[in-house]
Amino acid sequence: MQNLGKYSFGIGDRFAQQGKAQLKAFFMAAEAGIEVTPVWNKSNREHQIIHTDPADTRYEADVAVKETGWKGSYFVDADHINLGNVDRFIDHSDFFTIDVADYIGKEADKESVDRFLSDNSKYQGDLKIPGIEKPFPVSPELLKIIANKFLYATQEASKIYMHIASKKGIGNFITEVSMDEVDEAQNPVELFFILSSLGKLGVPVQTIAPKFTGRFNKGVDYEGDVEQFGKEFEQDLLVIDFAIKEFGLPASLKLSVHSGSDKFSIYPVIAELIRKHDKGIHIKTAGTTWLEEMIGLALSGPEALSLAKSIYAKAYERREELCAPYSTVIDIKESELPSPSKVETWSSSQFADSLRHIPGHPLYNPSFRQLIHVGYKIAAEYSNVYISHLNQNAGIVGKQVTENLFGRHFGRLFGV
Ligand SMILES: [Zn+2]
Repeated sequence: MQNLGKYSFGIGDRFAQQGKAQLKAFFMAAEAGIEVTPVWNKSNREHQIIHTDPADTRYEADVAVKETGWKGSYFVDADHINLGNVDRFIDHSDFFTIDVADYIGKEADKESVDRFLSDNSKYQGDLKIPGIEKPFPVSPELLKIIANKFLYATQEASKIYMHIASKKGIGNFITEVSMDEVDEAQNPVELFFILSSLGKLGVPVQTIAPKFTGRFNKGVDYEGDVEQFGKEFEQDLLVIDFAIKEFGLPASLKLSVHSGSDKFSIYPVIAELIRKHDKGIHIKTAGTTWLEEMIGLALSGPEALSLAKSIYAKAYERREELCAPYSTVIDIKESELPSPSKVETWSSSQFADSLRHIPGHPLYNPSFRQLIHVGYKIAAEYSNVYISHLNQNAGIVGKQVTENLFGRHFGRLFGV
């Protein structure tokens, strides 16, 4: 079976230009003694918006690895795929994020529900998870509710997994199951029974992305109850440990945190808990490399700054359209968005400091940042103009990309 390693990091790269700059951060982590596996992820939605192909992501990863001499393992993740769109990824990916969020709440057939109930009847009463002090009360009603909520979704995950395995061969790819793009969080008990069903259905899940408590908005900090998050996150870690033994799941199974970049207020909690329990983690950044490109352009002289400003101006005009596909994962305060005419007067550093995520920086503006985050469609419309500005200013742009990953993320999470 393919092995992802203890620590892995999903690095989205909208325009597939920053592979080497991203990889540099992993070299720096390795030099500091921490091995982190890079995973280039891109969803079908992103490919469609930018008009790229899964082959482009594979090419970017292979070239970056070859040209830098990276000797560690690396993966290309078909992010948030389903049965309808997975086929175009099959040849180019060795990591598949099977997204079954849309199937939560659909009812499975009665026979499957009955089988689920009898398989799990032994956990009724007090469910004791080793390491968690208080047992969880599991009534027959609760089991039924969980079956009706999640069983169908796990069956769908199994269907998609089998489809991929039939084409790529068993053991030739990493399987992730994600349920994060929903409003309602899954609690540790639900996670336990989701894993029970995935185990029964033969899905060798190696990373699982539940919806955690609180809001994981794209590219900005966590919003929610940090203490409650920590409590549930620790319980999730222990649930996974127990589930591996109970359901015969891969020993490498670990949590995957989606929209995981920039969650600076929970990083110390995650860092402490994975160290305490000696656990691995997969963190998916939310395509924030593209924001570093915009910061780099803003710092690259008048012409590039003016392009960055035009992209913002268009994103501002078309904000409704751009935000629509991301409604559950962004939270933009309209009143905090600067008008394009105001932004027009900004200096390089004003633009960069408003966009760059430095907590507590007086100019940092999370609404501005989130709107630009979803505005990559506009940059895609600038097509070659955008890409050629990136190439002309590759040094300063790449520096932003590397510093963001290494300094603001690896540092906080892995103590490098
Ligand atoms: Zn996700």
